[in-house]
Amino acid sequence: MPAQTRLFMCRSDNFGVLLHDPKTGATAAIDAPEAAPIEAALKAAGWKLTDILVTHHHADHTDGIMALKDKYKCRVVAPAAEAKTIPGVDETVREGDNVKVGSLTGNVIETPGHTLGHIVYWFHADNIVFAADTLFSVGCGRVIEGTMDQMWGSMLKMRDLPDETQVYCGHEYTAANIKFALSVDKGNPALLARAEQAARQLAEGRPTIPTTIGEEKQTNPFLRAGEPSLAANIGMAGKPANEVFAELRERKNRF
Ligand code: ZN
Ligand code: FE
Repeated sequence: MPAQTRLFMCRSDNFGVLLHDPKTGATAAIDAPEAAPIEAALKAAGWKLTDILVTHHHADHTDGIMALKDKYKCRVVAPAAEAKTIPGVDETVREGDNVKVGSLTGNVIETPGHTLGHIVYWFHADNIVFAADTLFSVGCGRVIEGTMDQMWGSMLKMRDLPDETQVYCGHEYTAANIKFALSVDKGNPALLARAEQAARQLAEGRPTIPTTIGEEKQTNPFLRAGEPSLAANIGMAGKPANEVFAELRERKNRF
């Protein structure tokens, strides 16, 4: 039976996500930005929390862990490299490890850059990746702990996932991301279409995700750093993709 999901807002702009296995009843929260909205989403769906899959140590992804763990006695899975700075960890995972949520299987992909230990969870059979603060819709996370080259390597890992993979990210930053993307890639028809679609989604009070890897490959400047036209737009024609990526990320920081 295919996985089910629930998507909702936490804090100011964090996405909360639940992943449910209808076969076993297992339910995972991807990160725990805030306990109350996660509990409300569980209650509305009639699901019981069995697991929390943590992507990285930042407070806006971990603040709700202990309250949820106290209430549901759920298992907390977290990246090995950051386990010491994440509360309540029961199990640590690394690149290539599999994580079970009932009968669903997620594969761990290490995506250093935003933080050094950041991981994403790829549920291959269900075509879903939980990308948190590595890949946003039409954007990517700030490179805080890692190097630009590490983050570019992480972008390549995301880009290699199948096009039909649905991407759930950590924040509703799509509108601001599109503004920046248009400043460096305005001749891209797929980006113009995405801008219209996102504006409509937001005007209707809907989230702009999930997006897909295929759509991000067409619209996300950070995945498109190897495109000659994009490099030319920022005066870097012929430069290697990792350098174009670094320049794009710097410009976004100042945008
Ligand atoms: Zn973060
Ligand atoms: Fe975050």
